[in-house]
Amino acid sequence: MPEYDYRCKACRNEFSLFYRTYADFDAATPSCPQCGKTDLTRLIRRVAIARPGRDLSGMSANEMMSVLEGGDSREIGQLFDQVGQTAGVENMSETYQETTDKLLKGESVAKVEKGLQEQAAAGSPPTAEAKPKKPPKTTP
Ligand SMILES: [Zn+2]
Repeated sequence: MPEYDYRCKACRNEFSLFYRTYADFDAATPSCPQCGKTDLTRLIRRVAIARPGRDLSGMSANEMMSVLEGGDSREIGQLFDQVGQTAGVENMSETYQETTDKLLKGESVAKVEKGLQEQAAAGSPPTAEAKPKKPPKTTP
């Protein structure tokens, strides 16, 4: 769920607003809960999922999806980063690390995804087929 922080220019009240979706945010006119003014400064702070101390790896699948659907590269990069670290991966795969770095630098998700697909196509070992072995048919 997107969360945005604002400071009211009239009364200097700082507050956070939550939106169900990014579309709701686009449609909304935020106003100060204290004085009702709409003359607000948006505080550039990380949204809810990136709050210090919040364990992203503990996110529900739905929350993760909302991050991914949000399409914010840096946010997704942070998600990757934390998940990679908290998963206890000692040697995080180079690809994973690269992907995370790219996202954190703000590279578009589509571009990063395409790069991954190309890498996968080029570098997949020929023995990657993991078909379960069927027991040989025995005809009595
Ligand atoms: Zn106010």
